[in-house]
Amino acid sequence: MVRTLAKISLILLIIVALPIGFFFVRELSALSKNEQMVERVFSTQLESILYSINQYSENVVQHWKQSLDQPIEPESGIMKGLVENLFQNNQAILAVRFSDTTTSEEQAQYFNDSIFAIDTEIPRKKIEVLRGFLEENYQRVEIEPSGDYLIFYFLPKSKNGEQICQLIIDPDLFIQQNLRPTMQKVAQDLFYISISDSISGEVLFETDRENELSHSVEKATMWYLPTSKLGIHLKTKTIEQLASERTQRDNYMLLGMGLFVAMGFIFVFINIRKEMKLAELKSEFVANVSHEIRTPLALISMYAETLLLKRIKTEEKKEEYLKTIQQESTRLTGIVNRILNFSRIEKNRVKYHFENIDLKQVIPEIVHSFDSHFETANIHCHQESFEGSVWVQADRESLKTIVGNLLDNAIKYSDAEKKIVRVRIRKKAKQIWIEVEDNGIGISAKNQKHIFEQFYRVTEGDLAHKAKGSGLGLNLVKRIMKAHGGSVVVRSKLEEGSTFILKFPEKK
Ligand code: ADP
Repeated sequence: MVRTLAKISLILLIIVALPIGFFFVRELSALSKNEQMVERVFSTQLESILYSINQYSENVVQHWKQSLDQPIEPESGIMKGLVENLFQNNQAILAVRFSDTTTSEEQAQYFNDSIFAIDTEIPRKKIEVLRGFLEENYQRVEIEPSGDYLIFYFLPKSKNGEQICQLIIDPDLFIQQNLRPTMQKVAQDLFYISISDSISGEVLFETDRENELSHSVEKATMWYLPTSKLGIHLKTKTIEQLASERTQRDNYMLLGMGLFVAMGFIFVFINIRKEMKLAELKSEFVANVSHEIRTPLALISMYAETLLLKRIKTEEKKEEYLKTIQQESTRLTGIVNRILNFSRIEKNRVKYHFENIDLKQVIPEIVHSFDSHFETANIHCHQESFEGSVWVQADRESLKTIVGNLLDNAIKYSDAEKKIVRVRIRKKAKQIWIEVEDNGIGISAKNQKHIFEQFYRVTEGDLAHKAKGSGLGLNLVKRIMKAHGGSVVVRSKLEEGSTFILKFPEKK
């Protein structure tokens, strides 16, 4: 059996555990890759949000540029109107200045709110760069920080690059008035978006109050605020947290699945082992029963033949032979009945006829029916007296079967010099006990755990090994007691004897 079991385990391992194990290892290694992927996807998304904010600032500046790029004189009334209109809608533009590109001479200068000194120096390099772009038909805006301000330069197309226009910008107002609404809209409740000084790190603007997660802010340079940086992160969790939470969840799921598979594996293994043990016990049972039936059959056939041949002369001898035939047929009937009973009980086909039974009256009757057996086995059976009546609700035939089985075993498994079997009735709290005690071979603690299982027989020890049996008797007792709402227990010590106790619920 051990070899077959090892073979089955190996097959199970190969067809179930190996592919699953392989799958787990693969999944586990894929998990960290997934985590990196999730992180990458998230940061790409955050980057594109920052890009959209930059794109918006580009739109704003392009709009300013277009509104000033007109084929009109910078100092004309129309231009003044255009500039004032621009000032009105954009507090961030502090001043506008038009100059000649070749001489750097000022052509017109407009102030939004207050007049202040503007750095009139126009870097020639900027003009070169802008002109280069304009020749390629691309009108670019160059940015130059100047003190607290920013200066945006561009060459109006309409003037064929002869004029340069400077917009003096207050970066704080640019952020607050032009960028803030868009940033707030993009951030919603999900993101924290900030603008900070790229050198000092000082936060110039934030869509919400900064929280402790700022360390994982995704950063991008600002197209129109070259000294500042845009930052963004998820409000509730960082990307790493999100990704690792996901990985952790997947890990737990994998672990759960692994445990489930392992449990399934153990379950299948235990069941197969149980079934194999049962198959083994059944085959032993067939061998035992055949053996048990063969002896009485042989005796009956031999004595009947002798009688038929009329070889027996004395009446005494004849009677002895007939008695043996009768005894052996009773034994045969007993064996067959036990097997039939067992199969009926196992298939739940038994109908119990419960009635109120006075044990004080019935037990002695049952014990008495075993007198001849006790006599043959040279056993003294002692029934302890009990005062009054003891009522239980039981099926009469079943009661005979179970007490009979216990007496039969007490006789079978006794080899003491002075063999004694004691039968006693006891009244306990809410229970009635019937005890059958012997001073026989006893049962080891290890075997006590199994003797109530079907087909189980003890094979150690000379007597236990030689005694005939089917391994069904005690299992039958257990099943019948269960049907009576009671139970059966054993107290035994090897080589000292055993006491089997039938525990019935007390009849109210
Ligand atoms: P069997 O037909 O083998 O007697 P049972 O189910 O009646 O089957 O008993 C199961 C096993 O329990 C027996 O094989 C025997 O070893 C052990 N056993 C039962 N009763 C006794 C007893 N009174 N003393 C010692 N061993 C016992």
